[in-house]
Amino acid sequence: MTETADHPLTLFNSLTRRAEAFVPVHAGEARVYSCGPTVYNYPHIGNMRAYVFADTLGRVLTWKGYDLRHVINITDVGHLTDDADAGEDKMEKMAAQKAQSIWDIARHYTEAYWADVKALNIRQPMRWTIATDFIDEMIAFAKEIAPKHCYELDSGLYFDVSTVADYGRLARAVTEEGESRIEAVDGKRNAADFAIWRKTPPGEKRQMEWDSPWGRGAPGWHLECSVMSGQVLGFPFDIHTGGIDHREIHHPNEIAQNQAHLEHRAGCCTGGLDAAENSGARIWMHNNFLVERSGKMSKSSGEFLRLQLLIDKGYHPLAYRMLCLQAHYRSELEFSWDGLGAALVRLKRLLGAARGLLDLVTDGATRDSVRKTVTHPKLTPLIDRFDAALSDDLNTAVALTVLEEAAAMKKVDAEQKASLVGAMLSALGLPLLPREELRIRPRDAAVDEAWIDAAMERRKAARANKDFTASDAIRDEMASMGVEVMDGDPLGWEWRLGG
Ligand code: AMP
Ligand code: ZN
Repeated sequence: MTETADHPLTLFNSLTRRAEAFVPVHAGEARVYSCGPTVYNYPHIGNMRAYVFADTLGRVLTWKGYDLRHVINITDVGHLTDDADAGEDKMEKMAAQKAQSIWDIARHYTEAYWADVKALNIRQPMRWTIATDFIDEMIAFAKEIAPKHCYELDSGLYFDVSTVADYGRLARAVTEEGESRIEAVDGKRNAADFAIWRKTPPGEKRQMEWDSPWGRGAPGWHLECSVMSGQVLGFPFDIHTGGIDHREIHHPNEIAQNQAHLEHRAGCCTGGLDAAENSGARIWMHNNFLVERSGKMSKSSGEFLRLQLLIDKGYHPLAYRMLCLQAHYRSELEFSWDGLGAALVRLKRLLGAARGLLDLVTDGATRDSVRKTVTHPKLTPLIDRFDAALSDDLNTAVALTVLEEAAAMKKVDAEQKASLVGAMLSALGLPLLPREELRIRPRDAAVDEAWIDAAMERRKAARANKDFTASDAIRDEMASMGVEVMDGDPLGWEWRLGG
């Protein structure tokens, strides 16, 4: 391996279950669509893992020099309480529970989600698509595919999955599990058929409903993503992302609709298009779940693990990003407070080592731009190893260790080191922060920082005078306020709140 070896970006494609070289549809560009949140509640940190993953993918594409065109949707209508077309609309249900307008609910939780996005240093996509902004386009799409692929029941317009070749190929071995989750609707031709338009039942009124050729009602959730992704990025685009649960139902259904749409456009027969092209996206990528020891994380069980809860307990939100980066996105990741604490310490160490490089850090650097500025023989192999790790299906765990090596490197040109460390931090989405911000500082700790700083100063003065009785007394006084003094701490925390 030469120091400037080229490592082609390879990504694991759930469609083929293989890592494949990334070859963009449009030269120099990477077009990515990520299934976004349903804004009926706060996202839990498991949901946020999906967006940290999508953001990391985007950052790696930038690092590799692609012009990223990323779209994330906001689902504000149509997602039922069961992914497979049963139950109530999640938004309508929450609005009824809270006796509020759906639009207010959607705005509130969209803003809460965006706050988490910002706190985790997830970059803004090129566009947030809001499902209710695309109703006309959804109706047009459904009209196009309905004659060959859909049938009407009292409850809505259904997609007949037997009309497309190789339905469910994305789900593979897990199809049975997927199917067993599909509840029967009277009159469905196949268990896996799904609603693309849901009629409002007679005598009922939904808060969100529109006129359509199939009656007043609302679009199905799967239809939304097909339409928004195709409209904004154009079929085929490069990469479609989502959590692993979407591999079972949501994405196979999107693919079935895309196939129907693309075959209609091409004016050809069922199965007449190349399988890679007719899926709508060439590569489908899925992040594995964040789990709790007690099992699958849910917005409705136990302590609600929102990012805000982590912040309230005193953890900087980027400790959670670090926790995600330490694992491969395709591995299950177990959440624990100890694990989060360890990730925070690691982040603190890393940023501590990078301190002093602050002014020189660049954002959004690419591998090639770094190669131009960083030529020191001790540093260039690190560029190569970092690039190799990220190019290997986003191996962030290895990339992190290379970054740590770079940050610890001694006797190298300081400016070059700063460019390299800055570029690596940016590729992983870790901004440089003053270390004070990384202190564990629970929100409910009723201690004022000016008082702590003054007490620390008093104690330092006592120690300088070798008055250890006074210094111990100050330490005890601080402990009684819930502040732990950490003498001789190699990380330089100096003090922390809580236990
Ligand atoms: P939802 O708002 O339920 O549509 O979910 C938003 C995103 O989070 C989707 O991509 C899901 O696949 C993903 N997701 C849901 N639960 C988890 C979890 N525990 N860990 C990782 N990703 C998840
Ligand atoms: Zn989606």
